[in-house]
Amino acid sequence: MKTNVEPLVNDGFAGEATKRTLGYLQAQREKGKNIVGIYCGYAPLEIIRAMGAAPAVLCAFADKTIAAGEEVLPSNLCPLIKSSYGFLKTDTCPFFAISEAVIAETTCDGKKKMFELIADIKPMHVMDLPQLPDQAEAIANWTSMIKKLKGFLETTFDKKINDADVEKEIAATNEKNRLMNKIFDFAALTPTPVSWLEFYDLTYLGQAATTQDMLPMLKQTIAKLEERVAEGIYHGEKDSPRAMVTGCPVGGDATKVFKVIEEAGGVVVVLDSCTGMKPYSGMIVENTPDPYEALSRRYLDLPCSCMTPNNRRLTELDKMIERFKPDVVIDVVLHACHSYNIESHKIKEHVIGKHKMPFLKIETDYSQSDVGQIRTRVEALMELVRK
Ligand code: SF4
Ligand code: SF4
Repeated sequence: MKTNVEPLVNDGFAGEATKRTLGYLQAQREKGKNIVGIYCGYAPLEIIRAMGAAPAVLCAFADKTIAAGEEVLPSNLCPLIKSSYGFLKTDTCPFFAISEAVIAETTCDGKKKMFELIADIKPMHVMDLPQLPDQAEAIANWTSMIKKLKGFLETTFDKKINDADVEKEIAATNEKNRLMNKIFDFAALTPTPVSWLEFYDLTYLGQAATTQDMLPMLKQTIAKLEERVAEGIYHGEKDSPRAMVTGCPVGGDATKVFKVIEEAGGVVVVLDSCTGMKPYSGMIVENTPDPYEALSRRYLDLPCSCMTPNNRRLTELDKMIERFKPDVVIDVVLHACHSYNIESHKIKEHVIGKHKMPFLKIETDYSQSDVGQIRTRVEALMELVRK
């Protein structure tokens, strides 16, 4: 890509997803909006927004808070959990500071137990997530959890959440997802006119900001990408190997993996994780008799490794490979994340067996100590597929 390419969003925060999102949330707080902290892709954002509050994704991606986390938590625990806890212990998560309540879900064991340790800092509501999504009871159980969350928010904030507002938020999410996917479609082009960092900036903000507030930015982004295509501006080289990155959420210090891929001459065209495109996949069915059930169906469709079996991940993988045409699949597994780690074997068999594509699993944490080793493996992979 030319070095003087105008950023997609020209507000001075290019590449600074956290600062832009924090600025947005602080402005909402000043306008009198309530802020509700979240930790996971299963948090039903539409319920939070229907109350007029804004969701804040809480900090979980920095190496600097791991040591504080390890003062209490075992060191052989996933860095995401240790970092989250370390942020709270050191009182350095600005998103937590402005949150007035926290929503949590029973996903993996580490997170579940960590939530117990922070439950007395702010009002916290833990949702019991069904982990057998194909069982007949799953939808009804998650629907009842979503209704319980509604009750918790109404009591904590002394506000009412109307079904009509939930329905409005469902429509707003669908609109946002449609526009986000228009942007993702540009990544499907060869060569791609958009970088992983530009995606990351948008997907990060999209969790916090309303569709209404994001509309100008999303429309501007689409127009700029159309211009880039018309002018022949692309990211990387014309024949850069295209990488799909899947697996655990990758943010903050873990984005070292994306940087290494680019430095090795590749381009990341799919970010298949909760810090990437996953929250924008799928649509919520509108105008059903029970909007909470519609939400339940959509959220239970999220292919997280805490589900068993997690066959949806393979189905989604097939769709993404078809759409974005990657040359390689890289599965990022955070240390001690047993569910993604074990599932990685299935992903490998599927990618190699069905798609005849090279696959690389990278197990890592938030330190920079393994960058050299990751670089060697990624460079070898890129060499293998370079046309
Ligand atoms: S990977 Fe699973 S547990 Fe982690 S944020 Fe996403 S949905 Fe939640
Ligand atoms: S990366 Fe794995 S172990 Fe870590 S919080 Fe997410 S699901 Fe749990």
